[in-house]
Amino acid sequence: MRVGIGYDSHRFESGRPLVLGGVRIPEHAGLKGHSDGDAVAHALIDALLGAAALGSIGHHFPDTDSRWEGADSMRLLSAAVRLIEERDYQVINADITIITESPRIAPWVEHMAEGIAEHLHIARSCISIKGKTNEGLGWIGRGEGLAVMAVTLLDQFGDMDTPHASIRTGG
Ligand code: MG
Repeated sequence: MRVGIGYDSHRFESGRPLVLGGVRIPEHAGLKGHSDGDAVAHALIDALLGAAALGSIGHHFPDTDSRWEGADSMRLLSAAVRLIEERDYQVINADITIITESPRIAPWVEHMAEGIAEHLHIARSCISIKGKTNEGLGWIGRGEGLAVMAVTLLDQFGDMDTPHASIRTGG
């Protein structure tokens, strides 16, 4: 088993669509970014890559690369899942916290979780998404942007000769 943590933050920018966890949330300023600014997808990607010790989102999908300009970050999430699956990892679960004063996250949790579960090739029940405010404190409290934290757990199958696998099986 391998655990990974991811964090991301983006500034709000009016005139852009708000996309979180692959879901378009209407009537709210979007997130500034080279891609679509989907901080949920970005934090999750870093958690997956972190669990597999495969570097960071910036390493695999650099914002200097025009391929990712305006990109649907859920496509990047799929690419990150391919990277870990190529190394015989599979996702066990993901727990995500979105910290923002607005919009309210609860009405969108179900839709986000369904899409994320599909991208991670796991059941909906293995995805947790929680929204919370920052109690009015700091830049999040002033509504300048939002932050996301994600934790994932991976399990590895296949090569039973690796030290990791031996530890896991007690062999
Ligand atoms: Mg980001």
